[in-house]
Amino acid sequence: MATSNSQHEGHVVLFPFMSKGHTIPLLHLSRLFLARGLRVTIITTPANRPFIDQSLADTSSAAATVVDIPFPQDTVPGIPVGIESTDKLPSLDLFFPFTISTEHMQPDFERALQTLPRVSFLVSDSATKFGFPRFVFYGFANFPMAVGTLVAENRLLEGPESDTELITVTQFPWIKITKKDFHESFRDSSTDAAQHEAFEFNMRSVVATVRSFGMIVNSFYELEPVFTDYWNTECGPRAWCVGPLLQLSQDDDINSTNDEDDDKPMWIEWLDQKLEEGSWVLYIAFGSQAELSAEQLQEVAKGLENSNVNFLWVVKKKSGATASDGLTKEFEERVKGRGMVVKEWVDQRRILMHGSVQGFLSHCGWNSVLESICAGVPILAWPMMAEQHLNARFVVEEMKVGRRVETCDGSVVKGFVKSEELEKMVKELMEGDKGEEVRKKVKEFADLASKAVKEGGSSWRSLQSLIDETIGNKEEKSMSS
Ligand code: UDP
Repeated sequence: MATSNSQHEGHVVLFPFMSKGHTIPLLHLSRLFLARGLRVTIITTPANRPFIDQSLADTSSAAATVVDIPFPQDTVPGIPVGIESTDKLPSLDLFFPFTISTEHMQPDFERALQTLPRVSFLVSDSATKFGFPRFVFYGFANFPMAVGTLVAENRLLEGPESDTELITVTQFPWIKITKKDFHESFRDSSTDAAQHEAFEFNMRSVVATVRSFGMIVNSFYELEPVFTDYWNTECGPRAWCVGPLLQLSQDDDINSTNDEDDDKPMWIEWLDQKLEEGSWVLYIAFGSQAELSAEQLQEVAKGLENSNVNFLWVVKKKSGATASDGLTKEFEERVKGRGMVVKEWVDQRRILMHGSVQGFLSHCGWNSVLESICAGVPILAWPMMAEQHLNARFVVEEMKVGRRVETCDGSVVKGFVKSEELEKMVKELMEGDKGEEVRKKVKEFADLASKAVKEGGSSWRSLQSLIDETIGNKEEKSMSS
């Protein structure tokens, strides 16, 4: 792990948005601040607290404190009491109402801040009226931020009638996007009250971003120099690329988890077995939020079965669902020995780092993309929501570390993927020449990622200068520049 010898007097407050995709990287970031001698306070809600406490259990309790404030109950019909994180929502239709409801936490959040020791800076999604620097953290790369800004500023989505017409992005003419790469809330479709509210929420986020001191980005400069430079010169506030955060914070543990672990989950033992046989495995997971319809689940099962590749498939259990989430015992019997289905929370990073895993069918949530890059595992991109469509373009067309499955209707944001398409692309990734090309490329980026976070690397320096500029350790500033 990259550490600094000096002890700062700083105190950082982090207020992660209540989703795993935001909380996990900010927990990694907290460890980095702790490693550099800062005190950390994390503000969260009661139902999210156990996950955070558990993640920080091995850190010094004197340096890391967790404070909880109430979640606004009763502001959104349909969200049961106790559901305080996006991965637990009964339906993704509640995603935006959930997000908007978190704005009601502002008064409690500000009250909590007043009770804390002097704060050096804050990392959060929301604005505050207090006089210390605030960094925003959206968990996005600079690519979707830069492209999204250009699309909005130049009103590029207002032109084409069709959702699939290719639109050239001004400034980056080699990039073509379509309307379906963007959620409707990106446009002001004021006929629909819910969409309009989501649009208004996005606008408030833009204002909060502009007013912040900077943006902490879970990415590294060498991964997206063009888009980082564009953001920092033409947009702002300044993006501080300090990632991949997972690699920065856990470099030390990664080797210890793999081999001499007496308490291995059965899927890791299964992967060990595949590695011994010299067989490759495709890992399949769509993050903590996305859900497949029962029909789509069956289609994926059929595609995997027909592809004949080995696979480990993590199926998200719908809240309240019981048994097999639509996958039959017969299916699991038929693929036994070469396919495993897991319906629990797994340590995804550990799976991706396993030597047998040589492909990842992913929804392209940014954390998943980074975890795959760090592990040198090529991606089969199947974006579903949020900025995942832009991430998929970045993965396939810019970085060239993956291939993409096409939806059969091509006209809706969340399209249907047929078993034949999946079978073809899975085989191509795991057995074909094109798969080999992207596998080679992703390993180059894995190497760059590992250099970026080592002492003296671009992300290491970026984190140091962030601390120096906010806390003002002039002596160290001159040493690190
Ligand atoms: N994750 C995990 N185990 C699971 C499901 C998810 O460790 O069973 C982690 C995954 O490694 C990643 C995060 O949850 O760090 C999901 O973030 P991502 O941006 O990939 O997708 P999102 O869930 O935000 O759609």
